[in-house]
Amino acid sequence: MKTFNVPVIYRSPLISAIKNQRKQQDRMKKDFTPTELDFGPIKIKLARHFGFCYGVENAIEIAFKTVDENPDKRIFLLSEMIHNPHVNNDLLDRGVQFIMDTAGHQLVPWESLQADDIVIIPAFGTTLETERKLASLGIEPLKYNTTCPFVERVWNKADQIGKKNYTVIVHGKPKHEETRATFSHSQAGTPTVVVKDIKEAALLAEFITGQRAPEEFNDLFKGQYSPGFNPSTDLQRVGVVNQTTMLATETQAIADYIRQVMVTHFQLTEATAGERFADTRDTLCYATNDNQTAVTGMLLEPADLAIVVGGYNSSNTSHLVELCEEKLPTYFISSPEKMLSANAIDHWDFHHSQEIKSQEFLPDQPTVTILLTSGASCPDALVEGVIRRLLSFYQLEHKADEMALID
Ligand code: SF4
Repeated sequence: MKTFNVPVIYRSPLISAIKNQRKQQDRMKKDFTPTELDFGPIKIKLARHFGFCYGVENAIEIAFKTVDENPDKRIFLLSEMIHNPHVNNDLLDRGVQFIMDTAGHQLVPWESLQADDIVIIPAFGTTLETERKLASLGIEPLKYNTTCPFVERVWNKADQIGKKNYTVIVHGKPKHEETRATFSHSQAGTPTVVVKDIKEAALLAEFITGQRAPEEFNDLFKGQYSPGFNPSTDLQRVGVVNQTTMLATETQAIADYIRQVMVTHFQLTEATAGERFADTRDTLCYATNDNQTAVTGMLLEPADLAIVVGGYNSSNTSHLVELCEEKLPTYFISSPEKMLSANAIDHWDFHHSQEIKSQEFLPDQPTVTILLTSGASCPDALVEGVIRRLLSFYQLEHKADEMALID
């Protein structure tokens, strides 16, 4: 896979050495067991895959290069480039401005933009409406485009099935930038509706089967369907695509469920299911798949707790937390400093969207085993920082240096 020029501050020689060693031992990526770092009283089991993905490295390379090459120009990002506060703050420090926040609220008025400004499209992509807006201001919308190719692959899939008269069901968070972009591209070619989870998929199924009156649709799916969407006629042939960072198991469950509803309701067979349900497997990106499978592999190991590092608004990171929470006490932190001491930790409760403090997160016992991973937008340097901070609570920080030297 292509390598990118990412600022060295985000890299970690220690983590790179571990990743390279695992890669050499397992080129086909079949081994999802974690890497065990045994420091005596503290053992850290590091997920097989974590950290910056292709799309994030691509976006970082383009954004930093653009800043370096254009010192005399005003540079804007449509919104956060990726969901990581460290990377976004570094760009802000270099004078880059965000036009919108992650919820789509305007921070910089469109009217203040000029034709010679640079506007960078983030890794999530953007809507066709925004592209048109930029063009109307004289700004070439795709000149500085960091949209991830794996997101574009979803748009292409939606386009392909739309051309075959399937309605597109997007499994995603309706307000997430990527889902808004995918929705915009898909609805340009075919009726489109967003479902955020299996409950909404079940609700949609009631319109497919006629158990619910079509009049209820507009209220129940407010803001999540394309203009003119008619549940009576637009749910006859469907296909499911997803926001690339959703939980793979949930997307699969939704696709399987909707397929079964179509098969039963329209009295299809396995052989004829394709008449009304498009095959759209494979719209999860490789990084989401690898990172989630690595967490599943990591959770097979006995441990006392899990730590997940990443931006609090990162969708892919919150899904890793969700998986860990099913098995273990789990702490979602954005940086090593969130571990205030061996006793206290500030961590994100994504169920209630708030940071909370927990005491005695490290159990008082002779040996503590910790599972550790990070999201696709989290620099490896932060994961190394977490390892070092944990070791410092046991006066073992020198062990990380020794390990870096050995590798
Ligand atoms: S998580 Fe996947 S889709 Fe998203 S930026 Fe990374 S590689 Fe692209």
